[in-house]
Amino acid sequence: MTNDTLTSASRRQSLIAMLSIPVIALAASSFTINTAAYAADNLPRVLVLATGGTIAGQADPRAAGAYKSGQITGEQLVASVPGLDKLASVNAEQISSIGSQDMNDKVWFALAQRIQQAFDKNEADAVVITHGTDTLEETAFFLDNVVKGDKPVVIVGSMRPATAVSADGPGNLYEAFQVAADPRSRGRGVMAVLNDKIQSARSVTKTNTTSVETFMSPNDGPIGYVDTAGGVRFLAQAGAKRTTYALPASDPLPRVEIVYSHANMDAIPIEDAISHGAKGIVLAGVGDGNTSKPALDALEAAAKKGIIVVRATRVRSGFVTRNVEVDDDKNGFVVSEDLNPQKARVLTQLLIASGVTAPAELQKAFTATW
Ligand code: ASP
Repeated sequence: MTNDTLTSASRRQSLIAMLSIPVIALAASSFTINTAAYAADNLPRVLVLATGGTIAGQADPRAAGAYKSGQITGEQLVASVPGLDKLASVNAEQISSIGSQDMNDKVWFALAQRIQQAFDKNEADAVVITHGTDTLEETAFFLDNVVKGDKPVVIVGSMRPATAVSADGPGNLYEAFQVAADPRSRGRGVMAVLNDKIQSARSVTKTNTTSVETFMSPNDGPIGYVDTAGGVRFLAQAGAKRTTYALPASDPLPRVEIVYSHANMDAIPIEDAISHGAKGIVLAGVGDGNTSKPALDALEAAAKKGIIVVRATRVRSGFVTRNVEVDDDKNGFVVSEDLNPQKARVLTQLLIASGVTAPAELQKAFTATW
């Protein structure tokens, strides 16, 4: 990295200047494409796909500290971070402008299709996705399971809006570009880059509601680190095992509900999920993916009806293991291993959509990494 890499103060100044540009109003579901071509030089071509989130947020004048997600376009974001043009040749497209609490199958399919097209037609060497932090891990995991090829896909967000003192977005975006532009990033699947850490789609999870130090990989830690001075440092070898599934012909994905276990748990949430047409139920269980006797009985009845039952855990780290306190073989249940409930839900949806419904086959897919 050269000395003209940026201090966070200069990035912030530049971003604040950008914010005086009137923001283009984008409907939550609008899909607009910027046709600007990449600059002709030898830098890696990075396609930025913007979806919204706090990284594109602006202060809300109604209350101190309040802000609105998804107010700034991807192009504006990229233009606000000096130095990106030295790392890569950039093209930015707007896929959506939403807070990631509203992330949905439509946007996921649009992202997956656009990334695959860009790679298959050799339009880009890497993709950077700007995203809200709330469901960033689910989008990362979904894309990791459907995008084929070994070109890098980096997902990035921020905890503070662009207008905050010490906004973390510009620095995170710069680091996401460092990772995307690095040839050693190939073959690592989708990576989340925030707060100097590079984390795998499978492991990364949001652990703190407000802190910039929020994304962690509780079981295995980051796969690498990145900072403007030191550059990219990978701790793990490339070539993580990754199975990809065909993107279903159209959205939405099959309905799979997460049921959260707690003391004094009854069967009602499980019966509700079934009555609303769930094809699968992921238990966010206590401990090793466990739950009360009435809830277990309801899950057993659901499995007998052909509803996929996956036991995950509400505990932040560790693995859910088969047949320890619950007889998975007898009940026809699947365990999520290390996948948290929200990621177990995504994998269950993709497996059902791919026609995989036998518990033994499902279990193989969940344990594929080990
Ligand atoms: N609600 C925001 C979102 O996920 C929070 C953030 O981006 O940090 O879009």
